[in-house]
Amino acid sequence: MSAKAKENRRLQEAQNRATAMQVKHDNERHRADAEYHRQIAKTEAARAASLQESSNTLETLGLIGREITANLKEEEVFKALHRHVDELLDATSFGISLISPDGETLQFVFGIENGKPISSFATAIDHPISSFARCARERQEIVLEREPGATGRFIIPGTMETLSLLYTPLIVGERLLGVMSIQSTRAHVYGERERSILRTLAAYGAIALDNASAYKQLEATVHALRETQNQLEEVSITDPLTGLRNRRFLLQNIEADVARAIRAYENQLEAEHANSHINNDEDLVFFMVDLDHFKSVNDTYGHACGDMVLIQMRDRLQSVFRESDYLIRWGGEEFLVVARSCNRKDAGIVAERIRQVVASCSFKLLDDLEISRTCSVGYASFPFIPKQPHLITWAQVINFADQGLYMVKKSGRNACIGVAQAPHVQLELLPQSDDFYNRIMRHPQQAAQSGLIQIITHNVRDLNDAISN
Ligand code: GH3
Ligand code: MG
Ligand code: MG
Repeated sequence: MSAKAKENRRLQEAQNRATAMQVKHDNERHRADAEYHRQIAKTEAARAASLQESSNTLETLGLIGREITANLKEEEVFKALHRHVDELLDATSFGISLISPDGETLQFVFGIENGKPISSFATAIDHPISSFARCARERQEIVLEREPGATGRFIIPGTMETLSLLYTPLIVGERLLGVMSIQSTRAHVYGERERSILRTLAAYGAIALDNASAYKQLEATVHALRETQNQLEEVSITDPLTGLRNRRFLLQNIEADVARAIRAYENQLEAEHANSHINNDEDLVFFMVDLDHFKSVNDTYGHACGDMVLIQMRDRLQSVFRESDYLIRWGGEEFLVVARSCNRKDAGIVAERIRQVVASCSFKLLDDLEISRTCSVGYASFPFIPKQPHLITWAQVINFADQGLYMVKKSGRNACIGVAQAPHVQLELLPQSDDFYNRIMRHPQQAAQSGLIQIITHNVRDLNDAISN
């Protein structure tokens, strides 16, 4: 081989080597680039996943926050907090202590360990080893890692030994409400993420507990106001001397009774033949009761003794009537009783019973002083005309009872007189409402004689005296 040929071959081999090195170098560079891009992609993916995770956590916490703060009862807030702690964190036990109003003690108000409740107990705020107390005093989060079997630590009676403990204060604005704690039997479970979650839950929990306490106070205030209002209402419808009802009470209640009585008769009128006699137990019977010559009790024995008679009158009336009847002190020594759901045919017997319960037994004034008294009774029933229940109003019926009472007084007292519809009254001949009422009030005797009404007497000595005008 010529020198020239040798030289060419050497050159060719050198070139080949150079090319091979170039290729190798290019390959290595490509591999490095690929690796570099892979790494970037991996980091990006991790960053995106972590972003997604924190955004999910934030969203979840936002929803949880809304749920926790929607509760207005303390117990519901505790339960909601516990439920979410259980979902989000490793917590063998969960507990909440609230600070007492005087700031001296912490009351452990809610605790759950492995699904079972932990009983309540109190700790002084200056307790030397309670971490609840320290967290409250320092108003700062506390994270503790314990060695198994460590001594000198405060363990809630009856609970397990925990290795990871996290305490966070419940604070609204500047106010400390208490301390929330989670604990785990596993070591090293509360990192930054867990602490941040518990902190967020505590912030929501504190707001919710504050709302609940404001709501409780509001409820208590409303309740107290309602009580006061009820008492005031009770006072306003009660006679202070006798404890009986007063006129205001009657006005508040009578309309409903009147409506019931009218309904009962209207139903009966619809159901029965118009000509038949109608009668039921939904009458309202008004009795007007007045003590006879009461003024002389005051004049002879003094006003205080007069009061004692009035109080004893209450007991006597109560002995005659049912609890559901209305016993009203109508005026000084005058009482109105409304017998409800009553049958008018019993009215006379009841009136006589009132008269007798007063006359038959003396009133005690002082230790050895007793006096006898009598009373006069007038009565009338509503509806006055059962077949025309709207003709005469309840207030007019009371005036008829009063008219009866007036007649008794004129007849000599200690008797009863009822003013009632005449037994065989001809409805078609009845005057119009006001006319009818005025005739009875002005001339009861004539109204009775002309068959509009009947005057029923009990123990009346001289009816002529009673009905003379
Ligand atoms: P009549 O038989 O006609 O009813 O005579 P009366 O003396 O009972 O009736 P009158 O209306 O003349 O007097 C009623 C008295 O009742 C006058 C008043 O001093 C007295 N009185 C009214 N309210 C009270 C009260 O609360 N306590 C006392 N002790 N007396 C009262
Ligand atoms: Mg009197
Ligand atoms: Mg009187």
